[in-house]
Amino acid sequence: MECEICGREIKGRGFKVIVEGSEVTVCARCKGYGAAKPEKVDQGVKKLILKKRQPKPIEFTEELVEDYNLIIKREREKRGWSQEVLAKKIQEKESLIKKIENKEITPEPEVVGKLEKLFNIKLRERIPEVKINARRESLTPTLGDVVIIKKKKK
Ligand SMILES: [Zn+2]
Repeated sequence: MECEICGREIKGRGFKVIVEGSEVTVCARCKGYGAAKPEKVDQGVKKLILKKRQPKPIEFTEELVEDYNLIIKREREKRGWSQEVLAKKIQEKESLIKKIENKEITPEPEVVGKLEKLFNIKLRERIPEVKINARRESLTPTLGDVVIIKKKKK
């Protein structure tokens, strides 16, 4: 026997109450929703739904800013340093600095951290992860979507 309001199993005989004109068998917790105060039924059901649909807290991820290479170059030139000088200051190879400034490679978080500290700037921004996922999903059709499209054309 299940409670007709919350769906929990009823231990014992349960309680018969009148909800919106019809008799239902409910558990001890839900008996207050019936008969005398039928308007409480809706509130009870809504509460259950809300609990299930609670969204996850938004998580943030750190991403390099779009023109990180230009910022690094600008900061380096402002100080009159060559790529070689900058490389020595953060104990990396000159070739790495060159590649970073040309956007040929994405620097490791460790290197980004060293550059941020050296120049006292931010090269990363916080982006909510949920947003990124939603964008990717809408752009990439799933295999199921592709199959349906092909079938419709025939
Ligand atoms: Zn119940």
